[in-house]
Amino acid sequence: MKYVSTRGAMHPQLFQDVLLEGLAPDGGLAVPESLPVVSTGLLESWRSLTYPQLAAELLGYFVTDIESADLLKMTTAAYSPTLFRSESIVDVRELNQGMSLLAVSEGPTLAFKDIAMQFLGQVFPYVLKARGTTLNILGATSGDTGSAAEYAMRSKPGVAVFMLSPHGRMSSFQRAQMYSLMDDNIHNLAVRGVFDEAQDIVKALAGDLDFKQTYRLGAVNSINWARIAAQIVYYFWGWLRATSGPSQQVSFAVPSGNFGNILSGHIAKRMGLPIRRLVLATNENNVLEEFFRTGVYRPRLPAQTHATSSPSMDISRASNFERFVYDLLDGDAARVKSLWQQLAQEGQFDLSDHLTSFERDWGFVAGVSSHDNRLATIRRVFDETGMLIDPHTADGVKVAAQYVESGIPMLVLETALPAKFSETIEQALGRPAPRPPGLEDLESRPQRVVELPCDVASVRDYIKEHAKV
Ligand SMILES: *Cc1c(COP(=O)(O)O)cnc(C)c1O
Repeated sequence: MKYVSTRGAMHPQLFQDVLLEGLAPDGGLAVPESLPVVSTGLLESWRSLTYPQLAAELLGYFVTDIESADLLKMTTAAYSPTLFRSESIVDVRELNQGMSLLAVSEGPTLAFKDIAMQFLGQVFPYVLKARGTTLNILGATSGDTGSAAEYAMRSKPGVAVFMLSPHGRMSSFQRAQMYSLMDDNIHNLAVRGVFDEAQDIVKALAGDLDFKQTYRLGAVNSINWARIAAQIVYYFWGWLRATSGPSQQVSFAVPSGNFGNILSGHIAKRMGLPIRRLVLATNENNVLEEFFRTGVYRPRLPAQTHATSSPSMDISRASNFERFVYDLLDGDAARVKSLWQQLAQEGQFDLSDHLTSFERDWGFVAGVSSHDNRLATIRRVFDETGMLIDPHTADGVKVAAQYVESGIPMLVLETALPAKFSETIEQALGRPAPRPPGLEDLESRPQRVVELPCDVASVRDYIKEHAKV
């Protein structure tokens, strides 16, 4: 399988080449030249596979430049019960009112991003070793992505991680999760500024092509194709667990921010998985809900982005959305390019002439959930089922409830565990969320973090001194 750019000007490349790159050279995103279709018979034959086996089968379509035996070794190491709190890696748990949770947050950092990152933690060292090179991953985080990346890359050969975080602006749990890692190749850099300023430093350094090449800077952000590919697996897994025979339909509800998670569901549907609906849930930052309601895509400025109680969905711009628009326009890269030019100039574009196709052809519907909805949903689910859900998952449940159809299972993606966002649980229920076993003492563990002024030069100097060579 080869990959091309959504903006049309990239020579087709293999998986390993797009793995280590961020944006395509033309500013677009890498997408498969064409998608494999999984037949009904083949899908049925997968019912007995374990999660690592299913992952190796599916990733095999996208990773044609790595031997399948090696791929299975990697998925087995990534999806191991020693790392995930579930023997089966991902469980389906019945909620009520026709809904179930797809429990994708049982990994080391209690959020679904572990699933994709743990695969990166295997495939990066493999590819770097084969190519005799090293990589210094540079990123900025306000919480979930940074910790998932660090736990996936800790003590992996050939890789170092430099993760900027805004000093004093993460929860004590999130700080402790990242800063308690003592591995030599993990560098936590707390800059005295806000997240957007940290992100600007990353952009400045990654945009300095000399520096980027000399220090082999890389990224693991949500546009990384390997992350999207690894997430496709749990849509197939969820379907296999929620059905008992061929062609039965299932709907998925996805708490969304950068459009990475739900994009994987969209691709699973295009590969022939019988998905009825993809229900996109946003919080008060409703850029994506607005698009699916009106056809107008209108990203916000950082200053117009609300800080909410489902903070991992507080985005102003959905970085993976371009891949969906590419499909919507039937792979018309010239049109995608001109839309993103228009976006840069006018701040929005209008695809309302496609509005009727969103649900009919692609299965997409969308809804918004507010702070009050979140608290009420956490309370209601707890009262009715005894299950505790996190604020992001609550947004998914709230919106999913409007789209449940009889006879069609609705799987809501549990994108984080409640322990990670205990303040909001306390607000909803009057008591904090219980800690998963083994994490009771997290905040009292020793921490390792370097505080830096919020400027490009300080971070550049730190990387020069500590980069993997
Ligand atoms: C990252 C994240 C999301 C949003 O996922 P996208 O792929 O960016 O749409 C939702 N919930 C949680 C808990 C997350 O960490």
